[in-house]
Amino acid sequence: MGGLAGRTALVTGASRGIGRAIARRLAAEGALVAVHYGSSEAAAHETVAGIERSGGRAFAVRAELGVEGDVETLFAGLERGLAGRPLDILVNNAATAPAGPIETDTPERFDRLFAVNVRAPYFLIQRALPLLRDGGRIITLSSVATRVANPGQTSYAMSKGALETMTLTLASALGGRGITVNAVAPGATRTADNAQVFEAPGLEEFIAGQTALGRLGRAEDVADAVAFLASGDGRWITGQVLDASGGVHLG
Ligand code: NDP
Repeated sequence: MGGLAGRTALVTGASRGIGRAIARRLAAEGALVAVHYGSSEAAAHETVAGIERSGGRAFAVRAELGVEGDVETLFAGLERGLAGRPLDILVNNAATAPAGPIETDTPERFDRLFAVNVRAPYFLIQRALPLLRDGGRIITLSSVATRVANPGQTSYAMSKGALETMTLTLASALGGRGITVNAVAPGATRTADNAQVFEAPGLEEFIAGQTALGRLGRAEDVADAVAFLASGDGRWITGQVLDASGGVHLG
């Protein structure tokens, strides 16, 4: 076991995609991981089963985010699974996808996107503060969309910009407790769940051409960056956005 033995972690949106890879990685380091999911129950249980097959410890927690009572529902399951242990690592990974260009957006879609992507992680952190151990970690998934303009992702990019600002200000607010607060910003990242998106003719080659390291990201590339910030080695880093994109659009 690695450097997170005896620690606990909550990873939101860990039923699939990048969140699943983060949950696996933190569990491989020895943490007991709460695998949060919204609707993909079978996938969440497969994340847990995969961790257990590898000798790790995890439990699933269901809560739809972005609806009334979401945080309380999540915490009821989390506290049941933690059985009195404090929380060491909170990874805000769950998010809803880009809503499209401004011309086709609606107030309802915009409000839903912000409820899931911004309001839920913010109040999740608020609710977690009494449970979070001094010296703990808060890590939030952002996106290169905050520094590379994509007209198809305006409201999504805005939501990630809000999370980056939250990261900066909460790092200052929580530093007195030794809690580090950081964001990790992936670029285009292929996962088992979105692989078909990158099958569009020429898309993978185009993205690779815009990326210094010359390929699409993998979920594990991002999970490793999160694990670094969660580890003891990340103790002196706070208030930062760590770009984990392989160098998308470096100029
Ligand atoms: P996926 O769409 O593959 O997975 C999203 C996860 O979040 C799922 O586990 C899903 O759970 C959960 N989720 C989404 N909406 C809700 C909700 N309303 N309530 C509860 N759970 C919800 O995402 P990715 O793995 O692709 O992305 C992970 C993070 O990385 C996100 O923050 C994303 O913005 C960011 N990112 C991803 C990039 C990429 O190319 N993949 C690029 C840049 C940033 P369930 O299915 O159980 O409902």
